[in-house]
Amino acid sequence: MSKSNKKKIALKIVIISLILLLVLGIVIFALISCKDNILKQGEITNYTLNLSFDESNNTLTGIQETDYINNYEVVLKTLEFHLYPNAFRTDAVYRPVNTLNYQRAYPNGFSSGGITIKSVKVDGQSKEINVTGNDKNILEVELNDDLYPGDRVLVQLEYVVQLPNCLHRFGYGDNTYNFGNFYPIASIYEQGSFREDNYGANGDPFYSQMSNYDVTITYDDDFILASSGEQLNTTLSNGLKTTTINADAVRDFAFVLSKNFSVISKKTGNTMVYYYYYDDATPEKSLQAGVDAISTFNNLFGEYPYKTYSVVKANFIHGGMEYPNLVYISDSVEDYEDYINVIIHETAHQWWYNLVGSNACEYAWLDEGLTEFSTLLFYRYNKGYNVNIEDSLNASLSSYLLFSEIYESAYGEFNSTMSRNVNDFSGEMEYVYVTYVKGVLFFDSLEETIGEKNFLKALKHYFKENEFKIATPDDMISSFEIVTKRSLEGFFDSWINGKVILQNYD
Ligand SMILES: [Zn+2]
Repeated sequence: MSKSNKKKIALKIVIISLILLLVLGIVIFALISCKDNILKQGEITNYTLNLSFDESNNTLTGIQETDYINNYEVVLKTLEFHLYPNAFRTDAVYRPVNTLNYQRAYPNGFSSGGITIKSVKVDGQSKEINVTGNDKNILEVELNDDLYPGDRVLVQLEYVVQLPNCLHRFGYGDNTYNFGNFYPIASIYEQGSFREDNYGANGDPFYSQMSNYDVTITYDDDFILASSGEQLNTTLSNGLKTTTINADAVRDFAFVLSKNFSVISKKTGNTMVYYYYYDDATPEKSLQAGVDAISTFNNLFGEYPYKTYSVVKANFIHGGMEYPNLVYISDSVEDYEDYINVIIHETAHQWWYNLVGSNACEYAWLDEGLTEFSTLLFYRYNKGYNVNIEDSLNASLSSYLLFSEIYESAYGEFNSTMSRNVNDFSGEMEYVYVTYVKGVLFFDSLEETIGEKNFLKALKHYFKENEFKIATPDDMISSFEIVTKRSLEGFFDSWINGKVILQNYD
């Protein structure tokens, strides 16, 4: 072999090595970005929120860019956004606070809240501000052009949000400023129209698609911020903090501000669990409940794919409230066992509400019933919490029967249909008994019918098939039928729509 040939061969080897390195690099890069894409979910809507909180008048100023993708199989001419804060207006027709709860929700007397839209632009073009719906609960945005399936449009909004002095999802108390359902969120298009559900007192009447969020919040530097997603960076300037946050593939974005928060954290799997609290004698135990719940449900249902999870104590009249990566736990829950129980329940919602979405306005049992039963499953696998599941089920059955009896003697026939709109329940009590309590009894009966092994296998199937999507009762039935290889339509129907006869155990 000649010298020049050797040179040529050497050159070839160098080129081939470089090509191999390049290919390897591309493969590694593809693998890394593929992992990121699990959370990006390909093409979903992106929200960019630029928020500034002014404590002196309890207002939040927002500049919002919604890079909206039409994920439906129809051409859209308009878009709709829910304006949930308007349910807190003085003259609201549909109110999140039941009159029976007024005193507790408004300890200093009624306080008004709402959202004022200052400007609307579509791809840079100014639009008329059209606040509509049957209770000023919807912002309708007319598009410049038809929006075809798969196409994107940029909707720019400017607004001011007034936070009421109300111990609710949206409002403030002595310890916390709660920002739940505070910004215009895209309404879901279904069966020929956008959902315009009102924000009433029954249930959690929210329903939304997975989206990505880039959020910047400016607030007084003596506040501590708890939020959905990952807090990337906080800077200080002129007595103000500015925090940037990224939350990918979540159904909603929420945050809580407090001057009284202490924070502790602990890692489980790939998730850092935070506990934001005040007035807790055993904060480590409360944090551990969140950690145990994430790790138990990871094993039972499928992996929680996010880096953060925050359990946040808050001024809130109900027991707790779920948002993606963040839950409120009410400081009004006095019994510590109940407080822990709320942490477990709200954590289960990360699977049944956020990761697997469902229409909580039409089938609240689908997430609430399963979440309640998941809480019982947690105790089955965490004996140290000393909760007797049989006792708990018996108590559920007795209280359900007692409620239906009292209801019948007072109002006539008791409607036990589970799949109905939240506004079709006569009140919060009936909603809770039919959705939560009957829901737990239903899932218990289902597990007894098909066996524990099949039951857990079907839940894993249901999770895997519907993660990041929206599931319907039919999707759930299908998972249970595929795993058990038997028809369960009649069984589900008798519980959900029919009148399964329940009676006390002997
Ligand atoms: Zn719940």
